[in-house]
Amino acid sequence: MEKSHRDHIDKELDKHLNELNISNDSSHEDNTSSFASATNVTSGTQQRHSTSPLSRSIRPSPYGNENGSESRYSSCSNFYNDENTDNIAYEQHSSVHDLLYQPKPLRDQKNRPISTPLNTRPASPYTLNPTIDADGISWPSIGARKRIDSTPEEAEQRLKKIEGAIKTIITELGEDVNREGMIRTPERYAKAMLFFTKGYEDNIKDVINQAVFEEDHDEMVIVKDIQIYSLCEHHLVPFYGKVHIGYIPNKRVLGLSKLARLEEMYARRFQVQERLTKQIALALSQILHPRGVAVVIEATHMCMVSRGIQKTGALTCTSSMLGCFRSQQKTRDEFLSLLNRKTTV
Ligand SMILES: [Zn+2]
Repeated sequence: MEKSHRDHIDKELDKHLNELNISNDSSHEDNTSSFASATNVTSGTQQRHSTSPLSRSIRPSPYGNENGSESRYSSCSNFYNDENTDNIAYEQHSSVHDLLYQPKPLRDQKNRPISTPLNTRPASPYTLNPTIDADGISWPSIGARKRIDSTPEEAEQRLKKIEGAIKTIITELGEDVNREGMIRTPERYAKAMLFFTKGYEDNIKDVINQAVFEEDHDEMVIVKDIQIYSLCEHHLVPFYGKVHIGYIPNKRVLGLSKLARLEEMYARRFQVQERLTKQIALALSQILHPRGVAVVIEATHMCMVSRGIQKTGALTCTSSMLGCFRSQQKTRDEFLSLLNRKTTV
């Protein structure tokens, strides 16, 4: 990895973190009192896209994505500010992969590295690197670039490989892959898995797709009850539930349905709920530079309710609060009370 690019990424990250700190410190106390009268509460079920076609794909997808438009990668660290980012730096891509292999270790308050018990990975590369990375695909994993760049032949080969692996699993579990009901199951499952993980092929730039608008609005915006479906990265079984997203704009708003698209992009990957929550919050924060962002996810994990301790009905709730939602209890309370309010439309 080129040092200059690493420096660039470091700088972007520092800038991003600084921005978060600044919004933490800045006070907007005078605005918080008026939230109740002017808050937008939108039911997510109405705003959510029923399908989320990938807006960029380099090939007709084998798993139901209709879009085969030509791919175009660009740096989008500032795409919402700069119309001309399309011309920037294709050659940076491999460096992002290097970065993924070398995530920065987490640091404690005295700047000492913190390691995990297994010590296999010093820290999640997904939330330490800049949200909107030079690669444009926004916290990609190591194979994501390869997957996106596949030729139709390579995509077909990938599908066959996954099918083969599924056949092995089914056989080892004691079933007959050749009986009528199961003969096409490996293929169906392979396609389903590619769909469940299609978020690896999305990038923020396409998801947001010029839906950032200048607007003189600085009251809380909430989209709640957006359905999420994701896969637990520890067991590869679903977790699903609802996400509630709130933010206080700073002269810039995002098309409401894009909040659901943003959630979908990160949920359709292998995830842990904590990281998913944080990714949505950080991405929104970096896209809009709002006064604050709040994301709450309530989800049921199949790995918890249908195996292991089998606690049916257990709900896992995670939240990520940035900016004034973190620094001002009043704002946070306002958000949480609006989430609890029953709304009928
Ligand atoms: Zn799990």
